[in-house]
Amino acid sequence: MLRGIKGVKDILPDEIARWQLIEDMARRLSLSYGYQEIRVPVFEMTELFARSIGASTDIVEKEMYTFQDRDGTSLTLRPEATAGVVRAYIEHNLGGSAVSQKFFYLGPMFRHERPQAGRLRQFHQYGVEYFGMRSPLADVEVVSLLWRFLSGLGLPDLTLEINSLGDAADRPPYKAALLEFLKTREDRLCQNCRRRMGTNPLRVLDCKVPGCQTATEDAPRITDHLSAGSRRHFEDVQAGLRDLGIPFSLNSRLVRGLDYYTQTIFEVTSGRLGAQNAVAAGGRYDGLVEALGGASTPAVGFAVGLERVALVLPASAIPRPHSLIFVAAFGEQGVTAGTRVLDELRGLGLRADTDYRASTLKAHLRQADRLGAEYVVIIGDDEVTKGRLLVRNMRTKEQEELPLLTAARSLSSRLKIG
Ligand code: ATP
Ligand code: MG
Repeated sequence: MLRGIKGVKDILPDEIARWQLIEDMARRLSLSYGYQEIRVPVFEMTELFARSIGASTDIVEKEMYTFQDRDGTSLTLRPEATAGVVRAYIEHNLGGSAVSQKFFYLGPMFRHERPQAGRLRQFHQYGVEYFGMRSPLADVEVVSLLWRFLSGLGLPDLTLEINSLGDAADRPPYKAALLEFLKTREDRLCQNCRRRMGTNPLRVLDCKVPGCQTATEDAPRITDHLSAGSRRHFEDVQAGLRDLGIPFSLNSRLVRGLDYYTQTIFEVTSGRLGAQNAVAAGGRYDGLVEALGGASTPAVGFAVGLERVALVLPASAIPRPHSLIFVAAFGEQGVTAGTRVLDELRGLGLRADTDYRASTLKAHLRQADRLGAEYVVIIGDDEVTKGRLLVRNMRTKEQEELPLLTAARSLSSRLKIG
């Protein structure tokens, strides 16, 4: 038998209520904050990701699904969506119209990682991108939307951490100071970190190996190397978050796995997630639009990992499905009348179903039980002759007779009130 790919999961009907709830919340909140949906392709030119995410990042070094198109062009399945959104923003001159500079997206991302709990090769993200706003209040808005989304879903044990990476001018002197420090600790660092010292020294601070963490405990802090402007921006973001009552803590070791971030960066973790505890991450990326060939445009955004949200989503948050009405029709005329009633119920927006194989009431009732129906509409030839049908409440077992012609309408008005 052919099986699916490791780390690439089916989302089956018994999990779908969770996903729909999460996606509905994302859509509803994004729209209320003024973000419009954008759908960018799941594959792009490889160069787009290499140039935006950064050549010496985990994603570009080892996680991308890259393949050659038939004409030899190198293509890549998107490992994240910001690069594609920025490309579309530039390509369609979206910055030229004043209205829609705020976008959200939902969809699958692809990374070749070692599959484990909370880490997949195809996973889903909800994210937003806010273009053209340099104000720290844009950072605050984006974090506030993220916080409202996660706390609105009732996710337990959330922590928001923020940091500032400064601007493009702050980074080189800090990198130099960090590198000086790392050289004095080189013998205590893991192989990977020693390599990163040459390519991307900030990533050493992000290493999960305990030895590396203790070795860099007293590393110079980026927040001590910020220009006056960057410091001011960061302080304004913090003040804005406090004003909105969003709890956060400062983490000067926080860095991101993508090179395009500047100024504010943030991450939300859940204490219930175990090792892969990051639910969402984001920050400001003022240089990216220009780096990809657009006009200089400040931007800020986030991405949420939806599998991880689904993992910790409390069961109490998941709404129960609408009541199911099962139509038990049998006998020649019964089936004809029953099919019509079924169609009417569905036309009225009710959830209604039947079993076309069942030819006896007993068989129908068994199936209604399996499906968890709350009402069963019973129509046999006798009922058709009388112009009536029976409605059985499966919980109370009470039964009542209704006129065939108006039964669907009266069930509908009853269920919509109740
Ligand atoms: P991590 O440190 O967990 O590798 P990351 O820094 O690579 O995360 P981002 O690129 O910032 O993650 O993506 C944002 C969010 O997407 C993460 O916080 C996480 O919830 C989710 N995510 C990232 N990679 C995966 C994956 N392979 N499987 C499932 N979710 C993922
Ligand atoms: Mg990663």
